[in-house]
Amino acid sequence: MSEMPAIPLIYIQLAYLVAAVLFIAGLKNLSSARTAPRGNALAAVGMLIAIIATLLMRGVVNYPLILGGVVVGAAIGAVLATRIQMTAMPQMVALLNGFGGGASVLVASAALLGGETIAASVPAWAIVVSALIGTVTFTGSLIAFAKLQEMMRGQPILYPGQQFVNGIMGLGILALCALVALQPEQVPAFGALLAVGLILGVTLVIPIGGADMPVVISLLNSYSGLAACATGFVLGNSGLVISGSLVGASGLILTKIMCDAMNRPLTNVLFGAFGAVDQTAIAAAAGGERPTVKAYTPDDAAIVFSSASSAIVVPGYGMAVAQAQHAVRELMDALEERGVKTRFAIHPVAGRMPGHMNVLLAEANVPYDKLVEMDHINAEFPETDVALVLGANDVVNPDARSAEDSPIYGMPILNVDHARQVMVIKRSMNPGFAGIDNPLFYLDNTMMVFGDAKQTVLGIVEALKEV
Ligand code: NDP
Repeated sequence: MSEMPAIPLIYIQLAYLVAAVLFIAGLKNLSSARTAPRGNALAAVGMLIAIIATLLMRGVVNYPLILGGVVVGAAIGAVLATRIQMTAMPQMVALLNGFGGGASVLVASAALLGGETIAASVPAWAIVVSALIGTVTFTGSLIAFAKLQEMMRGQPILYPGQQFVNGIMGLGILALCALVALQPEQVPAFGALLAVGLILGVTLVIPIGGADMPVVISLLNSYSGLAACATGFVLGNSGLVISGSLVGASGLILTKIMCDAMNRPLTNVLFGAFGAVDQTAIAAAAGGERPTVKAYTPDDAAIVFSSASSAIVVPGYGMAVAQAQHAVRELMDALEERGVKTRFAIHPVAGRMPGHMNVLLAEANVPYDKLVEMDHINAEFPETDVALVLGANDVVNPDARSAEDSPIYGMPILNVDHARQVMVIKRSMNPGFAGIDNPLFYLDNTMMVFGDAKQTVLGIVEALKEV
């Protein structure tokens, strides 16, 4: 194979610097839906520059093999990206995180097993960190994927003494880390470190409820960044160190934002076995001592809208399940044609992943300025004629404000109950993610319109033509 001309290292480092600046500018632009496409493009250009710079480095030994990897990887990525449903995005991200962690483990193993020539120039601690975080991220992400893809039980898997066993394994792995860092030639100890790391990834994630997986995935995303960062030290690659730290930090920030929006500390997400459905709520939902609700038809809903002058739509997980975003866009158009001022209230954890509602509504071409964040729109509910709750439940549960014994007490909610009329579209009285009943449904000013979100909204649009 012909040798590539050696590029001076300073140019490679400069290229990494440019790439890092583009990554940071990309992240900044991703903070708003309007600028997000530009953010994506900037980060993609940064990645291209980083890849080209890496390929021009001395030490790249086999270009045909790399090209083969690029072609196969790009083909699989392109097929997955175009086929994947929006609702399946969290598990897709889980897989990507897992592969990132797995890649870090492979690099760390190659560096350690590659013998003195490689290992001598590499800090042993970086190999250890890369292997530790990489293994936990790899199996942890695969379990998260399996839970969300319903390939295994989504409920928390619990057994007596679980935290103790995890604690012992945690201590054991720390001892192995210290041993390998001090004596990298101890290959069996490194093997044991990999094995315990892989097991720990499984045992840490199985007790977490399937519905909490998006938070876990965000955390694992952060881990995969930290693993990549450590791998950057293994390879002596500053580009990987910088991009890994950016992923690590942004994943942690996102995890914190999600926990804050649910008013739950991260420890509760990781160790609280949340998501096990409250059986008393289910019993109540099956017809216990609850007050009755008032059920209406789409025709009744259209009549209510016909005399309204303002409406706020609160989309939730049910809109995503029903893929009702295009139907609700039609409803918005029909209402605006009649002079009803219509906006969408966006709760930070509505749906099952950050930005879930924004992405779906953008797909249906709902203008960005119609989407209003919770903190801004809450003051407007008392002046609003109709609050339409579309497949949302927990994010509008008034118990979060007042019931101290509720598992979601303290979670900020959208104050739909302050609107003059509340209209709730869902299929049944089943609870949402938190597994608890919602007193909103029994209020005097609430009307329930039972049915699939998409079909029901289309029914209202049809009925509006007649009133
Ligand atoms: P919820 O899970 O509280 O409620 C969704 C409701 O949608 C259900 O009550 C269900 O009722 C209804 N529904 C399901 N399918 C349909 C359908 N086809 N048509 C109509 N309705 C349907 O959703 P929210 O969005 O209100 O709340 C999100 C929850 O997820 C919060 O508790 C949040 O903490 C949690 N969470 C969010 C994350 C995020 O990043 N967004 C991450 C992790 C957790 P029915 O079965 O009767 O139709």
